Amino acid sequence: MKLFKTQIELQAYLTLLRKQSQSIGFVPTMGALHDGHIQLVKASIQENDLTVVSIFINKKQFNNLDDYNNYPQNLSNDMQLLERVGCDVLFMPDHDEMYPKTYVPINLDLGQLNTVLEGPNRPGHFDGVVQVVNRLFNYVMPNKAYFGLKDYQQCMVIKVLQEAYFPQIDLEFCDTVRLSNGLAMSSRNLRLSKQGVDLASQLYKMLDMIKRLSQHIESKDALQYAKHLLTQKHIEVEYLTLAHADTLTLGKKWFKKQKNVVLIAAHIEGVRLIDNIVF
Ligand code: AMP
Repeated sequence: MKLFKTQIELQAYLTLLRKQSQSIGFVPTMGALHDGHIQLVKASIQENDLTVVSIFINKKQFNNLDDYNNYPQNLSNDMQLLERVGCDVLFMPDHDEMYPKTYVPINLDLGQLNTVLEGPNRPGHFDGVVQVVNRLFNYVMPNKAYFGLKDYQQCMVIKVLQEAYFPQIDLEFCDTVRLSNGLAMSSRNLRLSKQGVDLASQLYKMLDMIKRLSQHIESKDALQYAKHLLTQKHIEVEYLTLAHADTLTLGKKWFKKQKNVVLIAAHIEGVRLIDNIVF
């Protein structure tokens, strides 16, 4: 695996390969890699001649400085995992490389996407995501880029960015990889104790319960019941919300089959976790 820290080196290498008509797959990450990330890398390896993974903890997308300062890092393990799976290129820029003084942020109108769920709860988060992915897409110019549906709203934000600026890049959104207890894999899980991990499995259990209850009761009652059960277990629920799976328009009643997405953000042991279920 080749390691590049500057965009000049990276682009010189990728330009050569592009001249040989090699297709490039790209997986942006913030490191502390787990099987959720590796699934994206495997998909890219299968579908492209060459796979680039980036590791960059993007300060701009953290609305909470503590969260940024405590974000897990495990570079030697990340490199081992990437080598083992067969990743071709690891790109690891530092902050100045990503955002030189000359960088002019793009101004992307996310419309109502920025007014629901993660938007108001994490002010500035999606703008940070847009800036970093814009930078990375410009540096890598992949044929295809891979993102995880665990970050459901983020996938929709990336789609808006791609449609506006990068129509030539294909996007693939991959299913959420979970632990055997149902908890969505996340780098932030590393900050949970063993009991925290057990407790956090309740998030997906409740989402799954809501899906089952949707056959029988109104959405308002299903969501309220799940929230009550979580609160009883001392899980602090930031939101537990029904939205339309294609538009993220919030819903008061169930939508048609496969158009419902229920999204949750909750805090356990001071760690903010998100998850979702589509049905
Ligand atoms: P992050 O390092 O958290 O920025 O995540 C990098 C990419 O991995 C994003 O596209 C995430 O949505 C994706 N990802 C993170 N966790 C999972 C998971 N459990 N299953 C699938 N994709 C994931």
